[in-house]
Amino acid sequence: MNKKTKIVATIGPSSESEEVLEQLIKNGADLFRFNLKHNNFDWHKKTITKAKEVAKKLNKKIGIIVDFQGPELRVETKNEDDLKIEAGESVFVTDKFIENEKNIKINPSLVIKQIKIGDVVFLDDGDLELKIIGKNGNILEAKAERNYIIKNRKSLNVPTRSFDLPLLANRDMEALARIDELKIDYIALSFVRNKEDVVILKKLLHKINPKIGVIAKIENASALKNLEEIISIADGIMVARGDLGIEVPIRELAFWQKTIIDLSRKNNKPVIVATQMLKSMIENHRPTRAEATDVSNAVFDGTDALMLSEETAVGKYPARVVSEMTNIAVFSENNGNIREIKVEPENSTEILVDAAVNIIKNNKKLPIKAVIIFTQSGNTARIFSKYRLNIPIVVITDKRDIAGKLLMSYGVNPYYKKFEENNFKITKKLIDELIGFDFINNGENIIIIHGNNWMESGSTSDISLITV
Ligand code: ATP
Ligand code: MG
Repeated sequence: MNKKTKIVATIGPSSESEEVLEQLIKNGADLFRFNLKHNNFDWHKKTITKAKEVAKKLNKKIGIIVDFQGPELRVETKNEDDLKIEAGESVFVTDKFIENEKNIKINPSLVIKQIKIGDVVFLDDGDLELKIIGKNGNILEAKAERNYIIKNRKSLNVPTRSFDLPLLANRDMEALARIDELKIDYIALSFVRNKEDVVILKKLLHKINPKIGVIAKIENASALKNLEEIISIADGIMVARGDLGIEVPIRELAFWQKTIIDLSRKNNKPVIVATQMLKSMIENHRPTRAEATDVSNAVFDGTDALMLSEETAVGKYPARVVSEMTNIAVFSENNGNIREIKVEPENSTEILVDAAVNIIKNNKKLPIKAVIIFTQSGNTARIFSKYRLNIPIVVITDKRDIAGKLLMSYGVNPYYKKFEENNFKITKKLIDELIGFDFINNGENIIIIHGNNWMESGSTSDISLITV
């Protein structure tokens, strides 16, 4: 199996065991996502450690993303219990729990102050609508439009209002202080509004651990307005369709998915398509036709990665859902047309990579089986990856964190190797290793992209074509 599209699987109660983690990796998961909005820090720490041990045992690499709440609202239920409500029933939305009433709590209180009678509050990615029919001080009275079970810490959106919330929630700040205990590759920041939000988190990380990448989750109108500046600064992008589908009219989703993917590729940034990709498999053995088509179409749109949320966190068939996604992705990569983007190389590395891509695409006499890229910053690999060629990209870097982050980029197989100073070479040992990994066979042609003075980051300057 040579899958190029990366799969991000969210880990939760259904997938926390060693057996399931192992199956997820074997079936094609490349990164695990841990959502800090749910469960507690120690659970995440314990499960991340377990996941890494499982990957090591399988001799596979797995990237780790932790998801921060950011300036996003979440509901709390009394004693964290499920709250069962019936259609037409009153539910009180407050900043403190009140006795003897069906009640959900939201913080901070300034949010309650700004919500007005007539507003509609959406819960759980919009699954439940609550219409505000009364207000008395800091107590809002809402009518439920249908029977529903509200779970603790589900999302809450009020698209008619914009709240001035702090960039990081309390639990994000607590996690940030202990982030080095987790050994992660990326933080995904929810509800990014502009470039400044990403810059602030990066500045905080700079003091703690500058190697952690920041993924900007695009999920509201403000992020769409500031899309270019956000993509230019973030290390990765997520099309977070759950909240986006409420914050903007749902008819716009496919348009924005394509726009965000195109722009991310043009900026050499990896992009993830997320939410409800195989949703019916939370309960069912097989996906719907629409879901299978959605996964294919995301690949055709040119995404780097596909994400699973509830499907693997709380669903009945976490392992099956990953293998279903893998099968659809691999078939689509090999049989469809991935959307082309107009590439305009702007610097020497981009010009060089563009030349290598043209050699691979246009010469018929010497088919190229794989490309080997030596990189320190990962940039050359991401530039090559954006063309979405149907050949394996083997990336060799002497930076462990870069190898980890590259797990998110389409078609990239990163390897961490220490090199002697100024002495990088394609050795017989390396070639044998690549043959062992099934990327190439004896007698086949490969292209190598590297720098003359490759120890200097940003100085990629050579292409070689060799027969192994
Ligand atoms: P986001 O907006 O970041 O996607 P979410 O609430 O939709 O937040 P997901 O990460 O999409 O959360 O996960 C889907 C659901 O799976 C969650 O709403 C929660 O019910 C459950 N879940 C996810 N992670 C965990 C966990 N670590 N422990 C318990 N339940 C979890
Ligand atoms: Mg979600």
